[in-house]
Amino acid sequence: MTGTLLAADAAERDAADPLAGFRDRFQLRDGLIYLDGNSLGALPKATADRLARVIAQEWGEGLITSWLGALWSTAPRRIGDKIARLLGAASGEIIATDSTSVNIFKALTAALSLRPGRAKLLSEATNFPTDVYMMQGIEAFSGGRVRAVTADPDAVLDALDDEVAVLLLTQVHYKSGRVRDMAQVTRKAHDAGALVIWDLSHSAGAIPVDLGGANADFAIGCGYKFLNGGPGAPAYLFAAARHQAATPVLSGWFGHARPFSFEEDYDPAPGIERFLCGTPPVLGLAALEAGVDLLLEADMGELRRKSLALGDLFMERMEPLCARYGFALASERDPARRGSQVAYAHPRGYEIVQALKELDVIADFRTPDVLRFGLTPLYLRYRDIVETVERLERVCATEAWAKPEYQERAAVT
Ligand SMILES: *Cc1c(COP(=O)(O)O)cnc(C)c1O
Repeated sequence: MTGTLLAADAAERDAADPLAGFRDRFQLRDGLIYLDGNSLGALPKATADRLARVIAQEWGEGLITSWLGALWSTAPRRIGDKIARLLGAASGEIIATDSTSVNIFKALTAALSLRPGRAKLLSEATNFPTDVYMMQGIEAFSGGRVRAVTADPDAVLDALDDEVAVLLLTQVHYKSGRVRDMAQVTRKAHDAGALVIWDLSHSAGAIPVDLGGANADFAIGCGYKFLNGGPGAPAYLFAAARHQAATPVLSGWFGHARPFSFEEDYDPAPGIERFLCGTPPVLGLAALEAGVDLLLEADMGELRRKSLALGDLFMERMEPLCARYGFALASERDPARRGSQVAYAHPRGYEIVQALKELDVIADFRTPDVLRFGLTPLYLRYRDIVETVERLERVCATEAWAKPEYQERAAVT
């Protein structure tokens, strides 16, 4: 197909796209193709207005009375309930709070407390590093708790033995985008007597998730990726209702049953609020809520269909480049196991990602050689995919990646 025909075909698909109207709800510069919504989601236009109101009225005018008057104090629970609707959880099972890393610590220690005879924390070595780092901290701090990490991600379930208290896995792998079967893995872990913590950082807002249907124990995930909650947005923590008697180790006053009684001793709140720690970050929560509200307007099934179609189109357009320039698919082809991203390995991956930025395509590079393209069906168009591969071809054909300044790696990739 020639370029013009391709563009016409993509434009036709955009015109028929039931989600097309959402693009205009985001602030996106003309010409820019943003394929990094899985690292930092784009800015919903409503967020700017929302934050302006929270700052000028709720903070500026209401001051401290806004904890009640503007419902600041119940925001973590209210937003948690909204996220629960995206993730197949019940009201009262999710709280929006802290960072994903901190929530991993909270979930790990809660799960450990529910498995007193068992000492092992299990994960796999290719997991997003912070997950395993948090396990290392617990191992170093609490004598006797040991971290077990399998080198082969497929072998992790074979390592379930009667010592394992908790299995921590990411549902959609951050590099390969590979999706794990949440229900099946949870069942196997339960059969072995372990609890499971699911990291949903690349799942929430990207693929349909059914925490309740999978009989999940705990889950955590980011607010700034597909939820579009803004840089450093609060994360969330899911604890199944049956596990909410676990005593939190991060026993801060906001998780107390009566924080404003200022009692001498810690007495955890009866429900999910016990997983709060300190004072909620109100500005960050307001931005997160705007992102989640927007996502709740979209149909998750429709999002998934479009996400897969964008990925199919991407892989189809990439085939000639794989043959000519040596890209190798580094993500799943099978739709049942594919998250909302495509990835390619290339020895010049880092330089190519930098050269793409100069052509106004933002993707990211993940060490050692992976170019990762996040597919966000709320604001990406089919024509963006066709255009991306055309610009990528230009980078390869002109060897635009071979600039000396790309030899030095930046601190953030
Ligand atoms: C992005 C990501 C994180 C990030 O954790 P923060 O505490 O927000 O920095 C954690 N886990 C996974 C799987 C991620 O993809």
